[in-house]
Amino acid sequence: MMAQFLDIKAAHKNALLFYRMGDFYEMFFDDAVAAAEALDIALTKRGKHLGQDIPMCGVPVHSAEGYLLSLIRKGFRVAVCEQMENPAEAKKRGSKSVVHREVVRLVTPGTLTEEALLEARRHNFLCAYALVRDEAALAWADISTGEFHVMPLPPIRLGPELARLMPSEVIVPEGSEQELAETVTESGAALTPLGRAAFDSTGSERRLCDLFEVSSLDAFGQFSRPEISAMGAIVEYLEITQKGRLPLLRTPQREAQSRVMQIDAATRRNLELTHALNGGRSGSLLSAIDRTVTAAGARLLERRLSSPSRVLEVVQARLDSVEFAVQKTRITDLLRDDLRKVPDLDRAMSRLGLDRGGPRDLASIRNGLEQTLQIAARLDQAALPALLVHATKSLVGHDVLLDLLDQALIAEPPLLSRDGGFIAPGYDEELDEMRQLRDEGRGVIAQMQQEYATQTGISTLKIKHNNVLGYFVEVTSTHADKMLSAPLSETFKHRQTTANQVRFTTVPLSEMETKILNAGGRAVEIEKRLYESLKAAILDQADQIGAAARGLAEIDLATALSDLARAESWTRPTVDSSRKLDIRGGRHPVVELALRKQGGGPFIANDCSLADGSDGADIWLLTGPNMAGKSTFLRQNALIALLAQMGSYVPARKADIGMVSQLFSRVGASDDLARGRSTFMVEMVETAAILNQSDDHALVILDEIGRGTATYDGLSIAWATLEHLHDVNRCRALFATHYHELTSLAGKLPGVENATVAVKEFDGDVIFLHEVRKGAADRSYGVQVAKLAGLPDAVVARARVVLEALEKGEREGAKKATLIDDLPLFSAVPASPAPNPKTSKVEERLAQILPDELSPREALQLLYELKDTA
Ligand code: ADP
Repeated sequence: MMAQFLDIKAAHKNALLFYRMGDFYEMFFDDAVAAAEALDIALTKRGKHLGQDIPMCGVPVHSAEGYLLSLIRKGFRVAVCEQMENPAEAKKRGSKSVVHREVVRLVTPGTLTEEALLEARRHNFLCAYALVRDEAALAWADISTGEFHVMPLPPIRLGPELARLMPSEVIVPEGSEQELAETVTESGAALTPLGRAAFDSTGSERRLCDLFEVSSLDAFGQFSRPEISAMGAIVEYLEITQKGRLPLLRTPQREAQSRVMQIDAATRRNLELTHALNGGRSGSLLSAIDRTVTAAGARLLERRLSSPSRVLEVVQARLDSVEFAVQKTRITDLLRDDLRKVPDLDRAMSRLGLDRGGPRDLASIRNGLEQTLQIAARLDQAALPALLVHATKSLVGHDVLLDLLDQALIAEPPLLSRDGGFIAPGYDEELDEMRQLRDEGRGVIAQMQQEYATQTGISTLKIKHNNVLGYFVEVTSTHADKMLSAPLSETFKHRQTTANQVRFTTVPLSEMETKILNAGGRAVEIEKRLYESLKAAILDQADQIGAAARGLAEIDLATALSDLARAESWTRPTVDSSRKLDIRGGRHPVVELALRKQGGGPFIANDCSLADGSDGADIWLLTGPNMAGKSTFLRQNALIALLAQMGSYVPARKADIGMVSQLFSRVGASDDLARGRSTFMVEMVETAAILNQSDDHALVILDEIGRGTATYDGLSIAWATLEHLHDVNRCRALFATHYHELTSLAGKLPGVENATVAVKEFDGDVIFLHEVRKGAADRSYGVQVAKLAGLPDAVVARARVVLEALEKGEREGAKKATLIDDLPLFSAVPASPAPNPKTSKVEERLAQILPDELSPREALQLLYELKDTA
């Protein structure tokens, strides 16, 4: 057995080997050590190899999925090795023969299909990146839904694209893993090097043609060598991991970067599109806007949000369907009720395609198609926008398959086909017959029990069944003597004595058992055959069912977005090819929600108008104290543009969006210790990317750039950056800064305008109005904000003194060094709270008292003293 193990292991060096032994998957040697630690299970020993103990651990087969998931999440790959025959069969080949075993599947992060291992509402993408000379391409597939895409992609764009797709695994040609490792791991995906042969474009083309049963790939479009190579590598990897069984992949869709808004990884992180900054999903834009009711709808929403379109017709068509749903509230509500009952058709199809499905997947298809009909009927009566016409078309024409499944399946079938019991009565004559025989047999046995009880005079006699003895007669030990002696011993053959019971069989009972077994076994066999034929009937319609699933997802998304728009009073944006960004009464969807949850004040809506044709500036320079709402304002405008281009209504009273080609968002000096770069360095690398890449349709959000270095350095960098954006990139930008000196640039650069977030000062405190107005902030209110934050009063008071001196000095042109020398010493400021004119001497004295430290006598003394003071 060890020899067999070592052979198989040698062929799967990069994976943990789950070696099937009876009811367990066992792991040996290093695999066992690694798995025991990762899973926190016991590490034991079994036998010796070359004189050494063999470490071993194991997991029960019935709970293996959970363990698999943990291992995959921890970055392992697992080769599942099954017994391909039973021990009896092996014995027939020779007394020392080992049961034949084979690896039936390689489980990797990018190739999961099990419900338990996948997140229902998220895609699970597997990517392949191919480099052919100086050209490159990325292909990606989700084998749990059948998506298959490809696009040409230079290495410099790989990072942003991975940030968009968030794949769980990326395949790269062996030899290039070092070069690509950082980019891939930064995206959170596992890196899998694959032999160069897998990427060979001639071999790839053949594999793809075989998979899609075509003679040439031209049928699907014109693909470049690297594109074919990347797609071929995906297919090859699937063949390796699925051991020859290929999933249902749709024909490859070619994507073009020029068709979607370009958003890099830092911007996605920063705007918290799908994940909040803390890494969780709640607090992200996605979680704030997701009202879809099906898993496929949720996946579509995430795809759209991650890839807002740049094609005007596409955006308009999506907005048209949301508008339809907003107006037809009644139909929308009914549709959403129907959609709630739609199972995940894509994932059920994927399991059936890979032969990992069961009766429940057949029922999912039936239930899905049933709802599909209902939904089509509802939409049939309305005048639909183009996208929904297309979606509705895909929903009809499934009647024959639906009828078949309806007749064949019971309402709620079991998970596994193994034990039968899922085919409806009346569907197959022979099956009904066998089931009747089996059930009658059970009736006959019940009768036998009665007869035997009468015959023996033992009223407690029972006929029972277990897997070892089959059917048997059981009496308590007190009746043993009677049963074991004549005449009863002639009929009842002794089989087993346990602590309290004695068990027997009889000839008629054994005969009945055989009949039942035969009929039952035959029934299960028939059901298995029927399962296969139903599965084949479904797979035959894979394309049509896939189209219906896409149609349903489209309807789910449109109605979900309309539900959101109605509930939150969002409006339809106008989108055109201009460079306008004119937003009236805009809000930040996530901050607004958070304020509501916290029961805080209302969210203050704000306007933003850039490049609106007449005198509109391209760049707003936003000043205002910390906490005023600068970051919120910056982000909300970016999010509104993004929502508009993904085809959603937007949180604004009115929004005119000129198509945004690239979206950039940077925050000064954010901590990025995880990547081991100095924060300032990161800030500058990211700013450089913006200045090098932005075109005149880009939208750039810069929040406190330059903050990460000394004041004059920072100011100079911010200054030069602003000038570059204005003169060279000529893009639209919102630039928040605390360098007031920059506001003078607005006078010099025609495209720059000053704006500020208003605050009111009241009694030495600052009150945030969260209102964005034209003009520059008068000062930064840093000291007041520090006071609000709870800085000790002494420090606040001291800061006021220093500030005053500095400001006075600046006005009078004094040098900083002399200023600092002239400042009153810190100790000159009272260490206790600055005397407030409104507090009396008694109150001051009271504030100094620590009652716990006073003796009764001292207390009395104090009382007299206080009375004197007053
Ligand atoms: P800044 O970037 O100026 O330091 P933020 O944008 O981080 O300020 O905003 C600080 C806080 O103020 C936010 O967390 C939010 O609670 C509140 N806030 C911001 N903008 C608004 C608004 N328009 N209406 C109401 N509250 C707001």
